[in-house]
Amino acid sequence: MNVLSCAHTHTTYCDGKTPAADMALHAFELGFVSLGFSSHAPQIFDPCYCIPPEREDDYKAEIRAISRQYAGRMAVYLGMERDAFSCASPDGYDYFLSAVHYLPHPDGHHTAVDGRPEDLRRYTDLYCGGDGLMMAAQYFSLLRGDVLAMKPQIIAHFDLVRKNNAVLRLYDEDSPPYRRLALDALRPLRDTGALLEVNTGAMARGYLKTPYPAPFLLKEWLSWGGEVIINSDCHDMRYLDYGFSDAQALLLSLGYDHAVRLGKQEKWERYSLA
Ligand SMILES: [Zn+2]
Ligand SMILES: [Zn+2]
Repeated sequence: MNVLSCAHTHTTYCDGKTPAADMALHAFELGFVSLGFSSHAPQIFDPCYCIPPEREDDYKAEIRAISRQYAGRMAVYLGMERDAFSCASPDGYDYFLSAVHYLPHPDGHHTAVDGRPEDLRRYTDLYCGGDGLMMAAQYFSLLRGDVLAMKPQIIAHFDLVRKNNAVLRLYDEDSPPYRRLALDALRPLRDTGALLEVNTGAMARGYLKTPYPAPFLLKEWLSWGGEVIINSDCHDMRYLDYGFSDAQALLLSLGYDHAVRLGKQEKWERYSLA
């Protein structure tokens, strides 16, 4: 297993179970070359999932202190996972991931894409006339717009909408219309230079058997010359490298020979998947 890094890591500053110091020690014990922390950026609604604005300075200070503690042994970076509906600025962070976790209602409320399946079904019935493809199109449109506007270093869990579709079957993931809309959303993101995240989080939590994004998207991304990064979207240190070997094998089978990770010297470095 060559990955030895994770740039998508949550702690008790947001909705993670593991304190930052314990997470860093575990990464070091696993032989990681680097670790990037990525708390959910502050947002106005659903505050229980993200870092409270009044704790953001503490978060930054603690991650910088951990970084100094491991200097020369493991590189530690300060990042954030920024939802499209967050008002937080990524200024002052080493990097950030862009993500869409919500679909907005006309009345200002939001439904979590990866929340309770019954909520996403109700959203689809109420606002998309029961058309799952229309719901998926709304999700991808939001993500494409946010990545083009924010220009993150990493695109988080590109097809997160798959998580509840595994239960709800709102649309056929193998159908040409679905594949076309997902590919149409992904294609323009290549030129932003962002890394496409291969995210094993839903595997660790038992929702999916394969990482985000689906293989057909990874295959096209490679043909466009895009770069990928393997992350576990870790919320519990026991799963910090969960599924990394599977993700690595999947990428190799699709024709990738390298991926990118947070580096020990340079911020981003390529490593061989073979
Ligand atoms: Zn996320
Ligand atoms: Zn996350």
